[in-house]
Amino acid sequence: MEPTSRPNPLSYLGDQLADWKTAGTYQRLRILEGPSAAESRFDGKDVINLASNNYLGLTTHPKLVEAAIAATRKYGAGSGAVRTISGTMDLHMQLERRIAQFKNVEACVVFQSGFAANAGTVSAILTPEDHIISDQLNHASIIDGARLSRAKIHVFPHRDHQAADRILSELDASPTRKLLITDGVFSMDGDIGPLPELVAVAEKHGAVMMVDDAHSSGVLGRNGRGTIDHFGLHGRVDIQVGTLSKAIGVLGGYVCGTKDLIEFLYHRARPFLFSTSHPPAVTAACLAAFDILESEPERIENLWANTRYLKKGLSDLGFDTGTSETPITPVMAGDAARAFRLSDELFQEGVLATGIGFPTVAKDKARVRTIVNATHTTAQLDRALEAFRIAGRRVGLI
Ligand SMILES: *Cc1c(COP(=O)(O)O)cnc(C)c1O
Repeated sequence: MEPTSRPNPLSYLGDQLADWKTAGTYQRLRILEGPSAAESRFDGKDVINLASNNYLGLTTHPKLVEAAIAATRKYGAGSGAVRTISGTMDLHMQLERRIAQFKNVEACVVFQSGFAANAGTVSAILTPEDHIISDQLNHASIIDGARLSRAKIHVFPHRDHQAADRILSELDASPTRKLLITDGVFSMDGDIGPLPELVAVAEKHGAVMMVDDAHSSGVLGRNGRGTIDHFGLHGRVDIQVGTLSKAIGVLGGYVCGTKDLIEFLYHRARPFLFSTSHPPAVTAACLAAFDILESEPERIENLWANTRYLKKGLSDLGFDTGTSETPITPVMAGDAARAFRLSDELFQEGVLATGIGFPTVAKDKARVRTIVNATHTTAQLDRALEAFRIAGRRVGLI
């Protein structure tokens, strides 16, 4: 039989792609041909990698790799089911206890990713009658969780705790639940959320306080315990989210809080109920990583020394590095096309640093984002700065 010819109902996608190509905002994936490390091979070229979240260099740590191999030999390649059916291994419980102890909280639940942790938690604990008060620059997974909950969403201007206070004041008369939520460290600007002020606002209005510490886990606080520890706010943040995919070097996300919160999530968080648990290799490598946070604190010291070095180098060259206070350092470039050109020129000069434009950041706030890690050498950072000097001149930024 002749195949029926019909117009392609998805042709609008091709049209959109063509528009992005014309606008210079079409992004080709860079292919990593080996481990994610301080210097990595992408698209056949060895470059200094300033584009990973591997803050402490743990992706390739021998203890993580060995733990993953040993767990695979003992437990196999996969867990076989979702957590609530038959996919809860003793390893999963061990990791949850380990994280709870590390974070100084009653209990912890691990999700498949930080994205699943945020989206699954926010959507589970709120109903359409409730209110969520959320920083304008909070991560997409928080926004998606808020939308899934169908709670009323109130967005406050970035880091503006007084605006959050005003929104909550107007809701004081309403008997419904309120959730005040912020990123600990903001992923595109590298600035830190005003936690002490926000915690006070939440307490004043009886709101639940939730912090997403994806970029602060392993980076801020004692041994990388995150922003709650950094600010000394133990016991005052009801829900702490962290990721196992960034500084921890593997994959996953977790939620820390009271036993009741965690048991509730065991019953109602949809990614926990409906998506298979981590393979043993992932869980065992994460366990090894928490040991390293405590036994190799020099990694965190190196991370911060490298952070200071690269930030100073970039601003000495004349770049605008925004408002960062952490190892995430944006190099502001104006529009997206220029940010992507800067990223391409840097790659030619031996540095991988990603261009980021709309819709991830505002249209006029495109940038190249750099993230140094603990294992970059000074020689590598000097080479990276020289590449920035050359590429920055080529695109007219300095
Ligand atoms: C990366 C990130 C996440 C998602 O974490 P994954 O483990 O990669 O899914 C959540 N929140 C913030 C703020 C992030 O930067």
